[in-house]
Amino acid sequence: MLIFTHFSVPFFSYILTDKFLNKHDKNSKTKHSIIAGTAGLIPDLLNIHATLTARQNSYSHTIWTVLLCILISLFVVIKFKNIHKSFIFWIPYAVTTHLFLDAISGGIKPLYPVNFLLGDYFIAPHLWIISDICFILILISMYKKQSRKNRVVNAEFFN
Ligand SMILES: [Zn+2]
Repeated sequence: MLIFTHFSVPFFSYILTDKFLNKHDKNSKTKHSIIAGTAGLIPDLLNIHATLTARQNSYSHTIWTVLLCILISLFVVIKFKNIHKSFIFWIPYAVTTHLFLDAISGGIKPLYPVNFLLGDYFIAPHLWIISDICFILILISMYKKQSRKNRVVNAEFFN
């Protein structure tokens, strides 16, 4: 999968969960959802690659990266009291969604260097671009809807 899909799945997961639980104010929701989305890029940022072989022969696309993210998230949340505790879940979740998406679009070796291949091309590469475009369009429509809402609130406030 491409980078915008890897960002969007944890980003929208956070927004939908937050909406369902109705817990945060708008500012922290935006900030936290962007952090969750960015965490979804971690495996590709740790190992920038152009080929499937490079992806499959790296530690960045393994369960070891998820475990490392759990440990780092735990350390950061305990050390810095102002960081929201939910990141112990959201950072490893975002990395796990990345691994899942790559597993269904070419496959990964989750236990590398053990030679166990998980997944296949269930989603063909030409569909990766369509997935990215769909997520970009959803984001643009959300932004426009929010802008319209803000204009209505401002208009009501000043009238
Ligand atoms: Zn990847």
